[in-house]
Amino acid sequence: MSDPVKYLLDEQHLPRFWYNVNADLPVPLDPVLHPGTKKPITPDELGVIFPRAVIEQEVSTEREIEIPKPVREILRQWRPSPLYRARRLEQALQTPAKIFYKYEGVSPPGSHKANTAIAQAFYNKAEGVKRITTETGAGQWGSSLAMAGSMFGLEILVYMVKVSYNQKPYRRAFMETFGARCIASPSDTTESGRAILAEHPDSSGSLGIAIGEAVELAAQRDDTKYALGSVLNHVLLHQTVIGLEAQKQLEMADTYPDMIIGCTGGGSNFAGIAFPFLGEQLRGGRKVECIAVEPSACPTLTKGLFAYDFGDTAHLTPLCKMHTLGSTFVPPGFHAGGLRYHGMAPQISHLAKLGYIAPRSYNQLECFAAGIQFARSEGIVPAPEATHAVRAAIDEAEKCRESGESKTILFNLSGHGNFDMQAYTDYLGGKLKDLEYAESEVAMALAGLPSVA
Ligand SMILES: *Cc1c(COP(=O)(O)O)cnc(C)c1O
Repeated sequence: MSDPVKYLLDEQHLPRFWYNVNADLPVPLDPVLHPGTKKPITPDELGVIFPRAVIEQEVSTEREIEIPKPVREILRQWRPSPLYRARRLEQALQTPAKIFYKYEGVSPPGSHKANTAIAQAFYNKAEGVKRITTETGAGQWGSSLAMAGSMFGLEILVYMVKVSYNQKPYRRAFMETFGARCIASPSDTTESGRAILAEHPDSSGSLGIAIGEAVELAAQRDDTKYALGSVLNHVLLHQTVIGLEAQKQLEMADTYPDMIIGCTGGGSNFAGIAFPFLGEQLRGGRKVECIAVEPSACPTLTKGLFAYDFGDTAHLTPLCKMHTLGSTFVPPGFHAGGLRYHGMAPQISHLAKLGYIAPRSYNQLECFAAGIQFARSEGIVPAPEATHAVRAAIDEAEKCRESGESKTILFNLSGHGNFDMQAYTDYLGGKLKDLEYAESEVAMALAGLPSVA
């Protein structure tokens, strides 16, 4: 056999610590604000919806945070995940670039989201929580938390964005298999859901609306907390196992990435693969180009404002300084590629603002085309979200073909698309189209940004 196509680590090389980028930021993050007083929020106030351990991680500036043993015991079922060299894709592209991808589709629910779901379920259980509420868009996060909840004996209640609830019945069945309850959002089970339905009876929902419903319930009961699958510091922290493993695997391959590419919805899988490398750079080590890829239909980093905004439409969540399209932004219904959140992780927004992360957007047709090209070379059907990263990796490899440069490209294949065949069916049937997002809608949503002194 010739050169390797996969780089595997033994179970004992599963990282023992998460990497916290807050320790290396050249300028600290702006504080999270209370939605009512607009003053920096206190741990006690956050404690209404999150467990204490998670809040500590949210504000920590320790560089390394230990992964609890029971969490590692579960993660090792699918971690360390494989790092592949995309040799057949390289050949198909006739590129001198080396393309590596970290494959997170090996987790039982099929994406990176399981990495933080296990950690969050563990901390909630340890603090005596009985029930966790959450939102889900395409269903990956709800699936991961449902699995984690069943492993730790927690009740899970998932508000699923209505358009996806109707389009993806198998995701709902997956969650119910683990005993979770899944409700289409907006729903009549919460005050905020009823308010949306009164105004827009046909609302197809949004992540911002679903988050509002989940947070509302968590705030009402002591035995109930809320969990978020992306955006917040602790979630990005839990995903750094991806990049920490990739560092060791690229060492085995005797190379270092010139560029790191990830798709960005709320920013967690991108942060997971990029932050450990970016941390090296921030501490004076090698420079790496980090490219965050988002859909043109929900262009948070490329067209949003960097401002304080709510995480939800009902304005119940704390205010974060982040790139945002406005909390009332509802992504166009035609968009099949996921990554539909109006905001972006504050850590990513901050690092993009400082020039350490280069954002980029693509239309969905070119992303699905890249996903199919990847599938036909590598045999894995990427999740629609992940096709954004694939598109950028292919574009960069093609640039290398033109320039003759042999760059090392690392991208995160955040999940498989085996539950997303409807989107591929629509693409292959010529039913998907590219439409620019409505400027007027975004302008309206941005006009509603909260004023912060
Ligand atoms: C949820 C999801 C994303 C987007 O979320 P991030 O927090 O930006 O990573 C990307 N890919 C897959 C497969 C997902 O499930």
